Amino acid sequence: ASSALSRIGLAGLAVMGQNLALNIADKGFPISVYNRTTSKVDETLDRAKHEGDLPLTGHYTPRDFVLSLQRPRSVIILVKAGSPVDQTISALSEYMETGDCIIDGGNEWYQNTERRIHEVSSKGILYLGMGVSGGEEGARHGPSLMPGGSYPAYSNIEDILKKVAAQVEDGPCVTYIGEGGSGNFVKMVHNGIEYGDMQLISEAYDVLKNVGGLSNAELAEIFSEWNAGELESFLIEITADIFKVRDEYGDGELVDKILDKTGMKGTGKWTVQQAAELSVAAPTIAASLDCRYLSGLKEEREAAAGVLKEAGLKEEVGSVRSGIDKKRLIDDVRQALYASKICSYAQGMNLLRAKSNEKGWNLNFGELARIWKGGCIIRAVFLDRIKKAYQRNPNLASLIVDPEFAREMVQRQAAWRRVVGLAISAGISTPGMCASLAYFDTYRRARLPANLVQAQRDLFGAHTYERIDRSGSFHTEWTKLA
Ligand code: NAP
Repeated sequence: ASSALSRIGLAGLAVMGQNLALNIADKGFPISVYNRTTSKVDETLDRAKHEGDLPLTGHYTPRDFVLSLQRPRSVIILVKAGSPVDQTISALSEYMETGDCIIDGGNEWYQNTERRIHEVSSKGILYLGMGVSGGEEGARHGPSLMPGGSYPAYSNIEDILKKVAAQVEDGPCVTYIGEGGSGNFVKMVHNGIEYGDMQLISEAYDVLKNVGGLSNAELAEIFSEWNAGELESFLIEITADIFKVRDEYGDGELVDKILDKTGMKGTGKWTVQQAAELSVAAPTIAASLDCRYLSGLKEEREAAAGVLKEAGLKEEVGSVRSGIDKKRLIDDVRQALYASKICSYAQGMNLLRAKSNEKGWNLNFGELARIWKGGCIIRAVFLDRIKKAYQRNPNLASLIVDPEFAREMVQRQAAWRRVVGLAISAGISTPGMCASLAYFDTYRRARLPANLVQAQRDLFGAHTYERIDRSGSFHTEWTKLA
């Protein structure tokens, strides 16, 4: 290691850490790196040399690593979330001093970050919990960064983060998110929204394939076309590419050979749990999570298909398919996907707003949409429209009532209803699209059947009800009057 001190340090050199460290060095900021298992330090040094003699130094003990940094020291940690982060903090903080900063870049539960902010503050150490999105590729060439916690800690590295983040036409994909664990919370909701997007795309695929009868080659073409319009996004783009990949072990395309069982790491579940905690409806995101659970029951689903066939269930998809106009179906599905997506984002944004109000984070929703425009998995042209909606009205109750989104939803609702209706008749489940449409229909109705639920609650539990025509709370002896 050279004797000159590094501008910043990074500990934890797995996929994310290695690539983010190289990205930082690539932008001209001298960086020190450290990993518990030292072979990864050598691996990173090797890559730094081969990827252009980047200004990166390797260190083999926490002490050497920390002491190699300029003060106030900034150390990014990218290790497995949970107790590995606590262990890494305790190993490094021993050599850190007042004013130094720790930045956890992992997918951490926001309350762990809030606990750690408090714990390290006794030593005068500042702390950031920073969501990092974009996977390996993003980390190396430009992720979306969601730093929350100490503002002074953010200021110390703002110049670095702005250079390292993905760049879009209205700036780098990073902004100071807010106090406490807000950066981790925003990243968590980003992942929940990502679950929704992926589910909705898979439903569009299911309807086009099984009702429309589209081949993989046709699907690749349609998704490429869609990627040139209002749906333009990373997920639509990679979906088009997926349909083109041949199976190296046999005939046809690889996508058809993949087992229909989805994995997950927990951020989608956290999002749905938080929505429930905060009394925010997030049915599209919840449907996506439920679908991952149901997909996991592969053997049970196969058995159920058999039992219900025995019981006389007939597949209706054939007769539905025979009557459809393929061209119109494709256009309808595009519109249904777009409208469903608006509802899903409305849920995610409203969850963020509820948490922001609870915690006093003062989140800027337009800025969040802006920093998701590049680098991250949900990056999409559509996010610019969300940014503008919140710029028009920062207190927007829901994206659904932004005048532009409202018009788009109304224009698409006939197509949306046709797709969902067709899928229902064909027995092709579209839980995400159905959840979005039901959310839209529930939210837009001035009067719901909740009056009856209130009457029932009052009858069996004397929970009282309000009236539409006079103020106060009322109770009725229903059974005496019936
Ligand atoms: P990972 O597989 O989550 O973690 C491996 C790293 O953690 C290694 O450096 C490992 O060190 C270290 N580690 C584990 N236990 C430790 C302990 N007790 N003490 C010290 N170090 C310990 O790595 P990753 O995939 O690069 O992800 C890092 C973080 O970024 C995670 O929070 C992840 O959720 C998040 N993230 C990942 C992605 C992605 O695409 N992979 C995207 C966004 C965010 P050793 O080498 O010594 O075992």
